[in-house]
Amino acid sequence: MLANKCLHCGKPVKGRTDKKFCSILCKNNFNYEQRTRTKSDVKTIDDILHRNRIILSTLMGDSRKETFDRMLLLKAKFRFDFHTGHYLNKEGKTYWLIYDYAWMEFSDQKILVIRKMY
Ligand SMILES: [Zn+2]
Repeated sequence: MLANKCLHCGKPVKGRTDKKFCSILCKNNFNYEQRTRTKSDVKTIDDILHRNRIILSTLMGDSRKETFDRMLLLKAKFRFDFHTGHYLNKEGKTYWLIYDYAWMEFSDQKILVIRKMY
């Protein structure tokens, strides 16, 4: 029967068949690298979401409800495909959440932004 290969270094693992690592060091290194990779993947998306929120909060100022040209948001590098949630209002329009802000397509050119108060 073939021995398992260590998930970190690829060396054969001796002992129980459910063992995944040749040593505690390899296990620790493997888990550390997994965590680091997860962190950087998550950070890329977090950064996009945070930038989306900064763009909205900068445009909105103290306003609770405002309409903007789509072009203005595009020029600011707003990412329409990244959001933190969504909901339908009573008229069946979809609002896309960016944390405490929400936007919806008011028309082809206009984006309505509201600030939600939690
Ligand atoms: Zn190993």
